[in-house]
Amino acid sequence: MNIAVIGTGYVGLVSGTCFAEMGNSVICVDVDHQKIEKLKQGIIPIYEPGLEEMVLENHKKGDLLFTTSLKEALKSAEVAFIAVGTPMGEDGSADLQYVLAVAREIGEGMDRYLVVVDKSTVPVGTADLVKETILAAQKARGVEIPFDVVSNPEFLKEGDAINDFMKPDRVVVGAESARAMEKMRELYAPFTRSHDRFIAMGVRSAEMTKYAANAMLATKISFMNEISNICEATGADVNDVRVGIGSDKRIGYSFIYPGCGYGGSCFPKDVKALEKIALEHGITPRVIGAVEEVNREQKKVLVRKITARFGENLQGKSFGIWGLSFKPETDDMREASSIVLIKELLARGATIKAYDPKAMEEARHFYLKEHPEILYTSNKYDALNGASAMVLVTEWKEFRSPDFYEIKNRLLEPVIFDGRNQYKKERLGEMGIEYHQIGVAIHR
Ligand code: NAD
Repeated sequence: MNIAVIGTGYVGLVSGTCFAEMGNSVICVDVDHQKIEKLKQGIIPIYEPGLEEMVLENHKKGDLLFTTSLKEALKSAEVAFIAVGTPMGEDGSADLQYVLAVAREIGEGMDRYLVVVDKSTVPVGTADLVKETILAAQKARGVEIPFDVVSNPEFLKEGDAINDFMKPDRVVVGAESARAMEKMRELYAPFTRSHDRFIAMGVRSAEMTKYAANAMLATKISFMNEISNICEATGADVNDVRVGIGSDKRIGYSFIYPGCGYGGSCFPKDVKALEKIALEHGITPRVIGAVEEVNREQKKVLVRKITARFGENLQGKSFGIWGLSFKPETDDMREASSIVLIKELLARGATIKAYDPKAMEEARHFYLKEHPEILYTSNKYDALNGASAMVLVTEWKEFRSPDFYEIKNRLLEPVIFDGRNQYKKERLGEMGIEYHQIGVAIHR
């Protein structure tokens, strides 16, 4: 099948590459000239495990091409995926300007029947807006070319995106036209061969499914973080409580890890957007409204612990930060907890040394660029030299079993703040390391 993927970010590049891997002819489009030039030269703009090899291989075979011209991509496309960003607007709702700009361009450039797919996460009713926008653009050209708009929200996780796309738990497609639904079934058939995981529904239900899924996952995290704060205040250990409740099949172990807050490009903005959708329809979403509020506070939990230990004035103190990305196996720093933590520590006069396996360039050039005083180190132990404490923010695998003797040697004082509960308190206690984690009271 000939496919155009518009927006070559985390979702667009992974989807386009995986469709090409299955033998389709894919053209990825982006307005970012630099990004497209780099991709043509085989330079991958993001870090995602396994992606580089697949992009290079399919590009070499000619199944995966890159362009800045949507018109060129539409020449042969049977299906066009819209995979541009839908960031949080000023009032919290999803900003649809990029989606609608693409819709307009599609209307201006298409010259035969096309299935237009909303893959971006968009509020309920957006498919109708996309349809109207394409119709208006066609009308301005004086043409009437048939098309269908379908919703196909994406559920991949950064860090395991290829796996999620190639072997999805489910493929959700919302369409009102049988012709378009058939096309989507055909396209996704190779990805759901072992058993049928294609879930067909109406467009609005598909749009809503994505928000409901993200809000449910974010709710589990915020719920557990609230429980962890209660554990800490009451002398319970949240690590035991987690295992205790996760063993109940109705609850399950996934997404109930306590921590220093969730980040990323999706949960914060999607929870907020869902809240906004509800309000616009006269519903006050009490649970959903609390999820982000709890998370915002939880991103400061390490700051509270650090100031409780060292005082509000951190002048002359240095902290070694382990992990900057919003989660392991990605260089994505959007809404990362590390940003909140580092800014709060700097504001109190602290010095920061930081290490992350993949996200240091992102931090230096974009997310923490107004703080050139941050020192980025080439390995995790160097970040701890002369520091008052080590602070673990992202649970990269290489932080799981570190050399605690080395940590002790490098630090001024043997103190660890762990935002992801990676270590055993007994082991660190035996070594004389003061260990602060989430949801466990510390007795010094
Ligand atoms: P991204 O910011 O990484 O990529 C978006 C790309 O679109 C950018 O490269 C940008 O230059 C390009 N773009 C903007 N306007 C354009 C236009 N008019 N024409 C062509 N390209 C244009 O975003 P992302 O993380 O890939 O997310 C895309 C969508 O998918 C969002 O709605 C997001 O909520 C959703 N989503 C993201 C994830 C994720 O893990 N990142 C997972 C599921 C769903």
